Amino acid sequence: MNPVFVNIHTHRPTGCGIELRTAGIHPWDAPQADAAALDRLARELESGGVQAVGETGLDFVQAADNGTRQAQIELFRAQLALACRYGLPVVLHCVKAFEQTMRLLREQEPRAVIFHGFIGSPEQARQALERGYCLSFGERTFASPRTVEALKETPLSQLFLETDDSETSVKTIYTRVAGLLALSVEELKRATTENYERIFIHG
Ligand SMILES: [Zn+2]
Repeated sequence: MNPVFVNIHTHRPTGCGIELRTAGIHPWDAPQADAAALDRLARELESGGVQAVGETGLDFVQAADNGTRQAQIELFRAQLALACRYGLPVVLHCVKAFEQTMRLLREQEPRAVIFHGFIGSPEQARQALERGYCLSFGERTFASPRTVEALKETPLSQLFLETDDSETSVKTIYTRVAGLLALSVEELKRATTENYERIFIHG
């Protein structure tokens, strides 16, 4: 496969390069997610057109009270179980809930884990990377000095890039990250394309 722009998580698909087809229930929707919603998700995953469960995870900034946090945890557990059942990777949304997320991943570990829009310290990045997880970086990375440090420590074999909900083009994200890592855009494309192939084509 020729190197292309892999955009591992976008809410504004352009049809160019590689954009992942995912299905999942966002942690923000946890209070409304019932058994029927999980059944619908299971059917969608079973249909075979989906490449990963996502985004799923925990957002403890959104979940101010204990009840909402518990609902997010239960929903995340249920989606990890689905990812394991269908042999799918997960694309994680994790905000201010790193320890809890890592704990739940130890209970049920999907065959690949990608933290989308990773924001965190180099130490947290190291913990996730040691477990073989991938980290995906985007627009918000550049505003967070410790996340830029985490990016610099991420091996190319565990790196993805994304536009998420920003209007910035994927090419701009690659160009900025290439600058930070003193690499060429082509080298970055080669790395993320190889990671995509390993996880989603040969996985
Ligand atoms: Zn997200």
